[in-house]
Amino acid sequence: MNKVSQSFGCMVFDDRVMKANLPPDIYRSLKKTIDEGSRLDTRVADAVATAMKDWAIENGATHFTHWFQPLTGVTAEKHDAFITPAPDGRVIMEFSGKELIKGEPDASSFPSGGLRATFEARGYTAWDPTSYAFIKGNTLCIPTAFCSYGGEALDKKTPLLRSMEALNKQAMRILKLFGNDEGVKCVRTSVGPEQEYFLVDKDMFEKRKDLKFTGRTLFGAKPPKGQELDDHYFGVIKPKVQAYMADLNEELWKLGILAKTEHNEVAPAQHELAPIYTTTNIATDHNQLTMEIMQKVAAKHGLVCLLHEKPFAGVNGSGKHNNWSIATDTGTNLLKPGETPYDNAQFLLFLCAVIKAVDDYQDLLRLSVATAGNDHRLGANEAPPAVVSIFLGDELTAVLDAIENDAPYAGAEKTTMKLGVHVLPRFTRDTTDRNRTSPFAFTGNKFEFRMLGSSNSIACANMMLNSAVAESLKIYADRLEGVEDFETALHEMIKKTIKDHKRIIFNGNGYDDSWIKEATEVRGLTNLKTTPDCMPELLNEKNVKMLTSHKVFSEAELHSRCEIMLENYCKTVNIEARTMLDMAKKEILPAVEKYSGDLATAYAAKKAAVPSLSLGYETKLIEKLSGLIDSMDKAAEKLESDLEEYQGIADVTKASCYIRDVILPDMDELRAPADEAELLTADSYWPFPTYGKLLFGVR
Ligand code: ADP
Ligand code: MG
Repeated sequence: MNKVSQSFGCMVFDDRVMKANLPPDIYRSLKKTIDEGSRLDTRVADAVATAMKDWAIENGATHFTHWFQPLTGVTAEKHDAFITPAPDGRVIMEFSGKELIKGEPDASSFPSGGLRATFEARGYTAWDPTSYAFIKGNTLCIPTAFCSYGGEALDKKTPLLRSMEALNKQAMRILKLFGNDEGVKCVRTSVGPEQEYFLVDKDMFEKRKDLKFTGRTLFGAKPPKGQELDDHYFGVIKPKVQAYMADLNEELWKLGILAKTEHNEVAPAQHELAPIYTTTNIATDHNQLTMEIMQKVAAKHGLVCLLHEKPFAGVNGSGKHNNWSIATDTGTNLLKPGETPYDNAQFLLFLCAVIKAVDDYQDLLRLSVATAGNDHRLGANEAPPAVVSIFLGDELTAVLDAIENDAPYAGAEKTTMKLGVHVLPRFTRDTTDRNRTSPFAFTGNKFEFRMLGSSNSIACANMMLNSAVAESLKIYADRLEGVEDFETALHEMIKKTIKDHKRIIFNGNGYDDSWIKEATEVRGLTNLKTTPDCMPELLNEKNVKMLTSHKVFSEAELHSRCEIMLENYCKTVNIEARTMLDMAKKEILPAVEKYSGDLATAYAAKKAAVPSLSLGYETKLIEKLSGLIDSMDKAAEKLESDLEEYQGIADVTKASCYIRDVILPDMDELRAPADEAELLTADSYWPFPTYGKLLFGVR
């Protein structure tokens, strides 16, 4: 464990703590399980449980919980005390291997998409020894997978672990072909997720039902100042925010989460946090914890941390950049261009595997980040677009072009590039690498998948990415194993991949409308704009075949997930729509009514006092506001009756399309006159803090 976290009294049962607290043979067995996925026998489990409990109690824990990640998107935990009644009537502190390995939460209220009928409501949680246990408050949290009694995954961790296993299996085959597998026990993917968020003042937050109920503003006119000056990005951090960040860092370090950088983002009140990268399943646990701690620490500072993808209209939304790489347990990054020809060839193969994977499974990557919140970013006029493409940079693209065409590579000496013979030119991480509009960018030795929403669990994106790349590697290994002339076969295969999949490579500006046109009309890439557009693609034949063949999902699990995601989309928007109606009827309409009423009273009094006054201002304003009141009333009525109709749609796919095509446009219709009225209504009448106050309120 890193020095920084040690000095903050790190509360993680990590490698260092395990080694110090476990008998050597137990430690070795556990390590074998962690590194190679070998089975853990009960004797080892019991010993680990006891050591874990003693360590936890020593560090102030009284309870333990199986911590898991159900399909709700947040984490769940049910606390049990370590206390067990003893025969003599007293209590003892106990924690067995059985309790460590398996738990049985009453799980009937977690979404299962029909996998688990309520009469067999109990699911079970199973310890994931590859992710470290940690102490939060007075509770030892044990990261677990969550399954139904039939063994179907009901969480996000299980398929993620399966996808890592699938990629490990295929990548090992490739390493073997290159003779680079010596001493390598496994291949893992690593992730460093950059997390964007907004901070707003807690008192102001409390006054806005939309933020409280939905995490985003449903009303709000553009403030006089927005993000147009770009003066927030990397700007001076305000003292209150600075204090928050310092406190947050400390809390995260205690949990072994090595938060590294923080800076202001493009939008006012928007910030970013990035941890040092780690193995994907640990990174996933950590990101879930990070989001939780970010909110808790904010509350301590009189702030609220907004993780919604689009808290404010007209201001940049928040995303998450999933920096992803593949490496051996011995520390070789397989996405790093090597120093010698043979390593280059292996690098190019892994690079091509990713290119092929992203092209073949664009739809899976897109849908892995689909939520009602993220739809406001992708497919709207914001970074990145809903069309998936890869940024490679000019140099690497030129190398691939040269290979494809057997043409000399301009950068090197004038010979044609032959894999396994020529050394790749050194790629500098040039300025074009900073292309921020690309959904999937190669950044020197890793890929950065940028379509994730700020509130998404990174598990979903990574399970699809790992599986798709495992599939490419499998096809390559199947082709190359046993082939007589390895080099020629490899060269031809890479050439073919480039030819077949170069349509996915795009180094230009992803915001440009002309790109969307070219992508869809010329290159035939998919443009799945909304959640109802992309979610059903999960069940198309190609995707089901790939995901089931690598045993990442069963067909039943895929059906359940599709249903849960669509249901979640519908419920989210339904809550937003109802919140809008509530705010419009109980807050906005009465406020505008009151203001225009007061204007009318003033008008009448002035007219009575001085009959010759023209009172043009009052007349105009009263007319305008009364018009807006009527528009709001009409729009609210329509939204209300359409919501009633929506309630009657039983089929979730149909319901989601209705939400997209009817309810969301209705909501826009209601918002427009309300935002206009806000600009005409005196501040003292407006019922809740405006954008200006929310965005510039934290000092
Ligand atoms: P930037 O995007 O600002 O250039 P960095 O290069 O500092 O960022 O990295 C951003 C994130 O990527 C960090 O979380 C970092 O830990 C992570 N990262 C760096 N190298 C790798 C890697 N090989 N695999 C996965 N993540 C990585
Ligand atoms: Mg980045």
